[in-house]
Amino acid sequence: MRLILLGPPGAGKGTQAQRLVARHGIVQLSTGDMLRTAVAAQTAVGLKAKDLMARGELVSDDVVVQIISDRIDQPDAKKGFILDGFPRTVAQAEALERLLADKKLKLDAVIDLVVDDGILVDRIEKRIAEMRARGESIRPDDNPDVLKRRLAAYHAQTAPLADYYRGKGLLKSTDGMAPIEAVTAAIARHLAVPAPRKAPVRKAPRGGTRGSVKARSGGRKAASPKAGTRKPAKKTRRKAAPAKKRPAGRKLPRNSAQKRRSGRARRLTKRR
Ligand code: AMP
Repeated sequence: MRLILLGPPGAGKGTQAQRLVARHGIVQLSTGDMLRTAVAAQTAVGLKAKDLMARGELVSDDVVVQIISDRIDQPDAKKGFILDGFPRTVAQAEALERLLADKKLKLDAVIDLVVDDGILVDRIEKRIAEMRARGESIRPDDNPDVLKRRLAAYHAQTAPLADYYRGKGLLKSTDGMAPIEAVTAAIARHLAVPAPRKAPVRKAPRGGTRGSVKARSGGRKAASPKAGTRKPAKKTRRKAAPAKKRPAGRKLPRNSAQKRRSGRARRLTKRR
């Protein structure tokens, strides 16, 4: 299964992605996580991305497209993947389409988590307060001002992807403001394979095949059924033909059975 998770920062994409990983045995490919790893490892990509990420701006398309392309080729992505944080622009979506076509792969669905900006700002403030209380380190881009910039970038550059994928018949819009379990259940319903429809059971024509089969075969004469498949024709009692009036005095011609019977009767009466 190959999926994209769309939604503004803080919409719960990471949480839902982990659940999809556990449920479908696929891998989560988060460009944000990959870029943070690159920044921490101080690779060439990391050095390019570091400042842009700290400001909440987007890293260039060719950088993220390349890291996604390389990652999809890894053996653990063969069974499927969830793209989280990618694509973020229509240009990235088009690049993804090309690279998947080159790899002879196709997307199954795009799950869009729809959440109000106000709720996201409240969520991030609460999360930061909780992390501070636990003494945890906070990401440089994890603050309400950066979030507002990232939300503005999301609406300008990423939100148009909903229409893009709707047009391709892949979009599954989900209420991301519902409780986590309800969002998980809604996603599962979106991804459920519909049960195959049962074909209506047609009754075989009884006995003769005349009118009905001819009609179904488009007016052509229907082929005769295979030997042994034809139902035995129903026995119908023939109505006795009305007896013809015999002219008086004329004897009926006797058949051989009648002759035998009357001969035996004569012999028996003789014996008595
Ligand atoms: P995320 O963890 O997905 O919110 O991403 C964190 C940051 O990484 C973003 O604010 C961007 O600076 C950068 N980033 C992640 N994914 C992309 C992408 N697909 N295109 C450009 N920049 C990205």
